Amino acid sequence: MHVTVDQDRCCSSGQCVLTAPDVFDQSEEDGLVLLLQDRPDPALLPKLRTAAALCPGGAITVAAEQVEEVEA
Ligand code: SF4
Repeated sequence: MHVTVDQDRCCSSGQCVLTAPDVFDQSEEDGLVLLLQDRPDPALLPKLRTAAALCPGGAITVAAEQVEEVEA
């Protein structure tokens, strides 16, 4: 699992921090999202999906691990 955030889309609502405080924080300067860890425990996946869904800016992306391509 790989999490990314786009600060250009963040509107500092704080939903992500409320939903998954182990993974997200907000800058004390401008309130923009800070990513604490980009490869968190897979057990957090449901919370991260919720955070991505609740984010009003659509700034959070949660991707499954890339599967290595197997050569034929
Ligand atoms: S929920 Fe989205 S818009 Fe709100 S602080 Fe987090 S990343 Fe930014």
